Amino acid sequence: MKFFALITLLALPLFAMKPAEDPQTVLIMLGAPGAGKGTQAVRLSEKMGIPQISTGDLFRENLRNETPVGQKAKSYMDKGQLVPDEVVLDMLFERIKAPDCQAGYILDGFPRTIPQAEALDSRLKGRVIAISLEVSDEVIVERLSGRIVCEDCGAPYHMVASPPKQEGICDRCGGKLIQRKDDTKEVVLDRLKVFHKQTEPVKAHYQAKGSLILIDGAVSKEETVKQLDAMLK
Ligand code: ADP
Ligand code: ZN
Repeated sequence: MKFFALITLLALPLFAMKPAEDPQTVLIMLGAPGAGKGTQAVRLSEKMGIPQISTGDLFRENLRNETPVGQKAKSYMDKGQLVPDEVVLDMLFERIKAPDCQAGYILDGFPRTIPQAEALDSRLKGRVIAISLEVSDEVIVERLSGRIVCEDCGAPYHMVASPPKQEGICDRCGGKLIQRKDDTKEVVLDRLKVFHKQTEPVKAHYQAKGSLILIDGAVSKEETVKQLDAMLK
């Protein structure tokens, strides 16, 4: 009798904490650096009411705060190389445990390797849609050299193609806009190499599951938005 009473007592708080049964929607933005993943992820996040999670932004935040994760990531990021999987996975899985991720979330910059994709698969509890923004390398180099990003929220802008309303200031949060250290031509070319070698195979991984959508990312932002919204209906 005592035993059952104890079990009930222990089980009660567990039931109370049980997450909602609704399946999660997880959107994965794939594409080369500068393909427009961040721009679309921020927009979809506002539209769908689920958070956008950029592993690049999380790393940059760790760098600013000089955390152990930031220290581990710095040398890789400066060279345009990938941070080792175990560092990324620990950081990301910690983030998606948060209550705001329960209904779903949008991943921007993750997974970037097959082991990362496999590790994510084992945690997913619902619908997954991988969206690949297709853009040629030439367009990427042109875009990144003009890119500026918000120091606080990571929202991206382009000096010519999509400038902020007020020069140097983020439309979204009022933060300061800066040019990223790894947006120099030399580092961009290295990032593209890394992308083709390590991240492009992730597309085939989702294609094999029937959850890949291809979107033309080389057209105007508005056109990409239209295509994407039509596919997600
Ligand atoms: P990009 O514009 O290249 O997509 P991000 O802001 O997503 O830039 O990432 C910047 C850097 O952070 C990458 O070059 C890499 O060093 C590191 N990084 C971000 N996400 C990952 C990841 N999923 N795996 C490994 N490294 C990552
Ligand atoms: Zn901002």
